[in-house]
Amino acid sequence: AQEREILTWELNGVACRELAQMVADDKYVPDIIIGIARGGLIPAGAMAYALDCKLMLSLNVEFYTGIGETLSEPVMLPSLLESSGLHDQRVLVVDDVADTGKTLKLVDDFCEQQGRVAEVRNAVIYQKPHTITTPDYCWRTTDKWINFPWSVDPPVVETRNATSEADG
Ligand code: 5GP
Repeated sequence: AQEREILTWELNGVACRELAQMVADDKYVPDIIIGIARGGLIPAGAMAYALDCKLMLSLNVEFYTGIGETLSEPVMLPSLLESSGLHDQRVLVVDDVADTGKTLKLVDDFCEQQGRVAEVRNAVIYQKPHTITTPDYCWRTTDKWINFPWSVDPPVVETRNATSEADG
């Protein structure tokens, strides 16, 4: 089997704290943190607490359809495109990994195009060496496929013989 980079739930906590520390030491004080759903939501939430930033927004981008299989371009899901207006806001965009870097670029460009945005920076737990967008803050670099704790297991299925409350 191909070698993997393993992020555990435990290590994710360390990664998010250290990533937040990099942002703080850099004296970047975001007004709003944008988590890229779904992978960026958990690190974004952890970083929002660590940076004491209460305002969060989520943008949903689909790119990978399987391990190593992508659509030709990342697609922003239209239902979540509504922007709360990024006027005068210092934005921190958070995702799990910058692989090709296309997702980060799509979201960065989208934020910049919102007009009168103060500043947009991004933070990722991992970057791959070939990313087209160099993240402002990055915890680790790897060329391996990463197993994230929130997506390594398949979705749950209903337990056989489970009774819901409605069933009585
Ligand atoms: P991009 O290629 O646009 O930088 O990355 C798009 C998305 O693909 C990432 O946000 C992430 O959800 C997924 N992805 C990219 N590389 C990996 C990887 O090594 N492991 C996992 N689990 N997901 C990845």
